[in-house]
Amino acid sequence: MIGVGVDIGGTFVKLYVMNERGEILRKEKAETNYEHGAEEFLKRIAAFINQIKKEYADQQVVVGVGAPGDVDYRHGILRYNPNLKFKDVDDWPLADILEKLTGIRPHVANDATLAAWGVYESVLKRQGSNVLVVTLGTGVGGGLIINKELYQGANGTAGEVGHTKISDVKTGPQCGCGARGCLEAFVGTIGIRRRVMEGVLQHPQSILAQMVKKEKDFKIELVSRAAEKGCPLALKIWEDTGFFLGIGIANVCLVLDMDTVVLTGGVSGAAKFFLPAVENVLYHQQIQTPFKKLKLLVSQDPNIGGVGAAMYAIYQELKKQ
Ligand SMILES: [Zn+2]
Repeated sequence: MIGVGVDIGGTFVKLYVMNERGEILRKEKAETNYEHGAEEFLKRIAAFINQIKKEYADQQVVVGVGAPGDVDYRHGILRYNPNLKFKDVDDWPLADILEKLTGIRPHVANDATLAAWGVYESVLKRQGSNVLVVTLGTGVGGGLIINKELYQGANGTAGEVGHTKISDVKTGPQCGCGARGCLEAFVGTIGIRRRVMEGVLQHPQSILAQMVKKEKDFKIELVSRAAEKGCPLALKIWEDTGFFLGIGIANVCLVLDMDTVVLTGGVSGAAKFFLPAVENVLYHQQIQTPFKKLKLLVSQDPNIGGVGAAMYAIYQELKKQ
């Protein structure tokens, strides 16, 4: 069996071809390209799938699609997404359209959810039964593996750990989703930037403040570079990030009693600065049982979204046989 994984992003779409052993046979990356519209975009993806079908004519080809936003995974519909700039793609029937163009019914799910499956298959090799994967970037997403199966919930929105509340919902910082006090408003890149700007005003002589002044565009990487130089402000910002993230993770673990938590996404690159603070929160909970044997890991694999989409399609199709 051959799995084609499609990872649709706001800027790029990534395509992966994988075998049952989890080996990447081919990968391609193309700009999402909004100019020619949504229909043309799916036609390009379908052309790739049809090409793979031809090349592997002696094998069954299956397809998984990870889409950003609110996905109805049962019907393969992208209900809503704030990041894709195509017009009129709310309630976009991705699975129906791709099936019509390729003859293959794809498995469509939220991109962070499928990335979680990618982590489970290719990083953890299915070790562990109950796994939380947190994707740290501009947004803070998540995915859940419960009893060794991908858990998507009643509507397909399970794992939205970024929008669980960790502070006052009336006075807390504003999140991209419109609410206040979300975890993402503290540990997403916009939340980290806000705390950097506050800190820089209070400590204008700090190494971080000097760096921010020099650079035109603020990048999270600046905070790591300043921390590397021992800047107390930068170290404090990472420590606070770990503290807030720890509260968010503890909330999920108290509800679901996970055995493994994996942090992934761009911001996880700074884990060495914030991980001790995460551990400190987790290992000092009043109720200790869910945390005593909890494994906390970091995985930085840029392929994980597409790999997860392909491996999930293979896994689901093999189960049918
Ligand atoms: Zn939110």
